[in-house]
Amino acid sequence: MNTTPHAAQSDRARVAIVTGASRGIGAAIAQRLAADGFAVVVNYASSPAEADALVAQLNANGGRAIAVQADVASADAVRRMFDVAEQELGKVDVLVNNAGILKTVPLADTSDALFDRTFAINVRGTFNTLREAADRMNDGGRIVNFSSTTLALNMPGYAIYNATKAAVESFTHVFAKELRGRNITVNAVAPGPIATSLFLDGKTDEQVQTFAKMPPLQRLGQPDDIASVVSFLAGADAGWVNGQVLRANGGLA
Ligand code: NAP
Repeated sequence: MNTTPHAAQSDRARVAIVTGASRGIGAAIAQRLAADGFAVVVNYASSPAEADALVAQLNANGGRAIAVQADVASADAVRRMFDVAEQELGKVDVLVNNAGILKTVPLADTSDALFDRTFAINVRGTFNTLREAADRMNDGGRIVNFSSTTLALNMPGYAIYNATKAAVESFTHVFAKELRGRNITVNAVAPGPIATSLFLDGKTDEQVQTFAKMPPLQRLGQPDDIASVVSFLAGADAGWVNGQVLRANGGLA
């Protein structure tokens, strides 16, 4: 029996939810998965104009996409996002947990509010969608979580962010095993520096150039560099890759 995601349904497009897809890496992932033939939920928290513009572009290109507002830190909002996905597009085949925030602050200077918000989005947000996905995804599905190469670098200012990504990597390893019998893979991507507002905001040109020179490939990554990795993990060719963290970073670490 063929149990690849491609065989799961024959009469409709497979369905992918991409969290945080209004801009940055998530928007590139939504574009790539739409090009791969997925019907795509473009999730966003606070950028409706960007999400709507992306959805219009995907639909104009012959794809099927909808924008769904949901703060992933809210379990209720995540439940409603799955409800809308099922009603509008069908049962979910691929979940990409891309939504995340980064503020680099030394641990000693980190406010309670920043600590709580970073964990709420990066950790609880991933937990909320994983818990929902456990019952609601099609067998044969694919889950792609988001870690970061900063976890391997231990740079000052990244303690809280790295702690959230360490939690996401733990979820990835354990959840892959908890889904035994469902033929659902759970992997994580850990990008190096990618030219998005998350990375660029607040950095001088000199700081950006320092990061760009760090990988042996001597450039910043682009959102499409990560979208192609997610496309691989979400597609038929990655069927035997499970419980892994793929560090896509130009050889930085
Ligand atoms: P970005 O450009 O800042 O975009 C973040 C996206 O997440 C936006 O679409 C934003 O939507 C959404 N988002 C933020 N909070 C949300 C929430 N509570 N609920 C739902 N969506 C929310 O970031 P990025 O660089 O593309 O990063 C994407 C992922 O890659 C993150 O998990 C990040 O940690 C990881 N990563 C990035 C880099 C890098 O160098 N860029 C490196 C390693 C890992 P709204 O605008 O609507 O809020």
